[in-house]
Amino acid sequence: MLKKMNLGGILLILFISIFVVGFGFPRSETRSAKKAYIVYLDGKKVGLLENKDTLLNMIDKEQETIKADFGVEKVYPPQGLETIEYTTYNTKVNTAEEIYNLIATNSTFTIKGYTVAIKKDDDETKYINILNKEDLEPALMDAISTFIRTENLQAYINDTQVEIVDTGKKIQSIYFEEKITIKESYLPIDADIITNKNDLTKYLLFSTLEPQDEYTVKEGDTIEKVAYNNKLSNEELLIANPNLSSVNALLSPGQKLSIGLISPMFTVVEDSEIIEDVDAAYDTIIEKNSSMYVGQSRVKQEGIKGKNRVTELVQTKNGEIKSLYVTSTTVISTPISKVVEQGTKPSYNFVDVPPAASSTDWAWPTISPYVITSPFGYRWGTLHGGIDISGSGFGSPIYSSTEGTVIRTNASCPNHGYYGSRCGGTYGNYVEVQTSTGLIIYYAHMTNTIRVSVGQKVTKGQLIGNMGNSGSSTGPHLHFEIRDASGNRLNPCRTAFAC
Ligand SMILES: [Zn+2]
Repeated sequence: MLKKMNLGGILLILFISIFVVGFGFPRSETRSAKKAYIVYLDGKKVGLLENKDTLLNMIDKEQETIKADFGVEKVYPPQGLETIEYTTYNTKVNTAEEIYNLIATNSTFTIKGYTVAIKKDDDETKYINILNKEDLEPALMDAISTFIRTENLQAYINDTQVEIVDTGKKIQSIYFEEKITIKESYLPIDADIITNKNDLTKYLLFSTLEPQDEYTVKEGDTIEKVAYNNKLSNEELLIANPNLSSVNALLSPGQKLSIGLISPMFTVVEDSEIIEDVDAAYDTIIEKNSSMYVGQSRVKQEGIKGKNRVTELVQTKNGEIKSLYVTSTTVISTPISKVVEQGTKPSYNFVDVPPAASSTDWAWPTISPYVITSPFGYRWGTLHGGIDISGSGFGSPIYSSTEGTVIRTNASCPNHGYYGSRCGGTYGNYVEVQTSTGLIIYYAHMTNTIRVSVGQKVTKGQLIGNMGNSGSSTGPHLHFEIRDASGNRLNPCRTAFAC
């Protein structure tokens, strides 16, 4: 039915064009000059036309399926089609149908849409073809809300943020690192054209519309477990599965989860001021006790963490903290030192000596205040194998958190690195300490003032260097990492500290 109508259309156009040609040019023996068009396709001449509108109308009329597929009202010539007007005495011109057939077999028709260009510094420009320009803004907002809570974003946009009373957050600015522009263009119908807002949001976040890999939930699975086993952070798994309400959402066996890795086409930067209460670590004081045997020890007083109210300037990019600077600190409570008594009385073979104080006792490696800006776990498909500690400031002391032997150091990197720097194998200036149980502790991104050397024994709490910004780093921080004897990276917040 459709085909018949189309055929009718062609015939009608042919009839009109023949009629026009016949009517417009009086029969005459003397050739007179007339206006015509040379038609080029991709720079190659494909024919001569009397009236280019006839061709354009034909292209439009012939493409009912394209119109139906995309919900558009008009179909346009291919991008490479050009007509140049000229004057000729030659009466031999092509019919619109001849040219149409040539184009239809050799090229692709276009529809009117928009091309979004996303350009960051020297990176290659990324393009997205969309049908409706109205989709761009809400899709960007939806995509951003993956990284910035919608109510915070709305309050920032509407300038209705409240001042921080005790603790809280105030956004100072939100912007894209990329230049995002949109322009009207004729899009070939075989190109990827995004026709609705939801697909555009998905494309902005995943850089693809391909279906994502799926995981089938098994008995005993939790979101945390599924995320980790599939190299995702909890947040990334939640983004890929908008139907999951939180990391505590219950999963049922057989349930399908998308395990696609997000790969945003943009970088949304959020600068904010945060006031929060953070822990202050306590020291351990050793007291000698002559009434206890050597090798005996006893905790005389348990340590109690202190609290500091800290004002921070924090920059995040796509939700990940890139830098954190503490601008002021108020002490709410001071930490109470842990006091351990150690015996000094000589012991004899016949005395049953209880084991020495546990060597799994760890000291926090920085001064206070500090903030853990990046936890252990997967992010963007790779394992962040340690914790990032910021806030105590550039140059602040770094202490060995255990007793051990220095097995490797590097002090060859500039104090300030940059994201992606390979200096020190991305770790910048670092110290590696091996414990008697075979664990290796990494202290990375320090300044070049490394205070220890290879082979040296260090004690818990000994100054080994200073917090820096070396290697692949976007702000002063310590990357603290623990590996076991087989090289597996352990979560310091489970292995060493309750953080
Ligand atoms: Zn790190």
